[in-house]
Amino acid sequence: MINISILGSTGSIGTQTLEIARKKKDINVCALAANSNVSLLEEQIREFKPRIACLYDEAAADELRGRVADTGVKVLSGMEGLIEAASLEEAETVVAAVVGMIGIRPAIAALNAGKKLALANKETLVCAGHIIMPLSKEKNAPILPVDSEHSAIFQCLNGEDRGAIEKILLTASGGPFRGKKRDELAYVMPEDALKHPNWSMGRKITIDSSTLVNKGLEVMEAKWLFGVEAENIEVVVQPGSVVHSMVQFADGAVMAQLGLPDMKLPIAYALYYPNRVYMEGDRLDLFSIKNIVFEEPDREAFPGLDLAYRALERRGNIPTVYNAANEAAVALFLDRKIGYLDIVDTIAECMSECRFIDDPDVDEILETEKEVREFIKGKIR
Ligand code: NDP
Ligand code: MG
Repeated sequence: MINISILGSTGSIGTQTLEIARKKKDINVCALAANSNVSLLEEQIREFKPRIACLYDEAAADELRGRVADTGVKVLSGMEGLIEAASLEEAETVVAAVVGMIGIRPAIAALNAGKKLALANKETLVCAGHIIMPLSKEKNAPILPVDSEHSAIFQCLNGEDRGAIEKILLTASGGPFRGKKRDELAYVMPEDALKHPNWSMGRKITIDSSTLVNKGLEVMEAKWLFGVEAENIEVVVQPGSVVHSMVQFADGAVMAQLGLPDMKLPIAYALYYPNRVYMEGDRLDLFSIKNIVFEEPDREAFPGLDLAYRALERRGNIPTVYNAANEAAVALFLDRKIGYLDIVDTIAECMSECRFIDDPDVDEILETEKEVREFIKGKIR
């Protein structure tokens, strides 16, 4: 039996994790947590019968408590609830699939409790990689990447000497605006940016994929996960999302992982690692694909990618500034309060204006987030 807790169970990754748990009788769900989606969490509680459920939002948790009183599940709320769900004694793996920096403290709690961390929430590593990676080592609590590119790299590194990595080739689909120039993007609306060509994902990451900020966040995620410097991480556009990423080794060999764009594969790989299990579904048909094309990313149309490299170079709390500014700006864009190009312009402005902190602890990371949010609020008022 694999006992798991899922943080972010009502989201895109969370529901796909539960789809796997529904089919695989050896996965037992101990805890489910989300923000405010009472109805879906109630359904999930009735189907998967966890011991603990948590809604971050207090009022929503109260409502849920009333609705599921007959089930015996313990309903928690707030950060305390998320931390309890992340450190539950009987859970051996915690699936970290909340969106945004709210995931940092629960991820730390899971590692402190010695859990395997199946990590989708890349924002955690971007902001707190310097805390998370040593903690994972100290507690002997492995981090198993769920992000498809990082899962691909992790698979390519199976049995390899990490010292022999020459380069990580991180693939990108290029998003819905691949081929467009910057001035063609000025009037992009949320509904245009929410149409990803290959993947169906949550709203925030779908916008991030369209600006290439997602790829910027993934460069930072890869640096922490695999201990590779930014200059040895190269982004390669592969429009069909068939090649999920590659590793180039010291002898010149390049290993790649290919597959259909289906997040259930990397999720299952993280849950069952080091084993592979049967997963139903279509298989890659190379004869119908015929061509796999690679392109360089357009760094002028999508400056969010280079900003990520710059944030890594500046270190300290600057990756947090990059991430927090993006989270705030994407929310404003989805609310139609700012334009599409303002998202990355806001990140750039915050990176030049916000206070630098070297080697920030978790409190300083969260203070930085607050400062960034206030700075942005002050600007759009
Ligand atoms: P979604 O927006 O679909 O889901 C987000 C989940 O987080 C929901 O369950 C939501 O709950 C929950 N949540 C939001 N805020 C809080 C909070 N304050 N406390 C507790 N739970 C909260 O996102 P995705 O599933 O797309 O993405 C999740 C993470 O995985 C992100 O970090 C993303 O970058 C990463 N990822 C996602 C991929 C994908 O294919 N979707 C691929 C690779 C990485 P509620 O429903 O109640 O709001
Ligand atoms: Mg990805």
